[in-house]
Amino acid sequence: MSLLCSSELLKHASEKVHEYLKEYDCDEMVDQYRIYLLYLEHYKQRYLLEKNEIRRIANYVSMLSNQERWLQNPRWESIPNSSNITQYQILKEMQLFYYEYVLKRKVAENHEFVNINQGGRSYKEIYLNSEKFKLIEINKEDIHYAEIIHTDSFYESLAASKNIKVPYFHGIFLHNECAICGEEFEEGSMVLELSCKHVFHFKCSHFWFKEKTSCAICRKQVAFAQKIYIKWRSVVDDEDHSGRKNLICTISSKAKFY
Ligand SMILES: [Zn+2]
Ligand SMILES: [Zn+2]
Repeated sequence: MSLLCSSELLKHASEKVHEYLKEYDCDEMVDQYRIYLLYLEHYKQRYLLEKNEIRRIANYVSMLSNQERWLQNPRWESIPNSSNITQYQILKEMQLFYYEYVLKRKVAENHEFVNINQGGRSYKEIYLNSEKFKLIEINKEDIHYAEIIHTDSFYESLAASKNIKVPYFHGIFLHNECAICGEEFEEGSMVLELSCKHVFHFKCSHFWFKEKTSCAICRKQVAFAQKIYIKWRSVVDDEDHSGRKNLICTISSKAKFY
């Protein structure tokens, strides 16, 4: 069985997914779970999977978007009937499938700007690194949190990244050592495989990509997206004694791989 995913296979599944997406509009994680179920059901012959395994895999892969839960999850070896290569292949194809056919759909989402009116100021749009974002949530009385979601190239660059999260199995990857911490990979530990095929501990990659945007081994630029968080805090301006509130805005970001 080839390790490369068949584009033919992805195309067939994508037609089913587009059909499916027309009917459903629900919570993103549930949405992802159902899409993976559909995909696996359609290709169960190819993977020789039992029904309960199909559920387990779909659930497992749908948790990819939640990094904490993903790292806490028991190892992938809970699927008894498949070899390491098959496990790797299923996980990889599921993620590529998501990049190719689900994530790109979000690029077309409409912009919807929310005004933040505070101290007589109005914020409609924010430009950061020439990227346009939208504000989606404001809460609490004095501290205004607003999660910013990229609306222009965020999903596109994420979809182009093709970085995958997989468990490490000896003999499948290009190398057996993490170049960030210098340690050998343990069987079953979670790794991030970049599109250049270089592999790093998933946790190590987080530290690395806080500062860098290229592979730690070959220095190839890695297309990954930054999720931006904005925290608004209003303070009383003491100097002009008007009691007018000013907004202080703190912007932070963290790498998002999926
Ligand atoms: Zn490491
Ligand atoms: Zn590389």
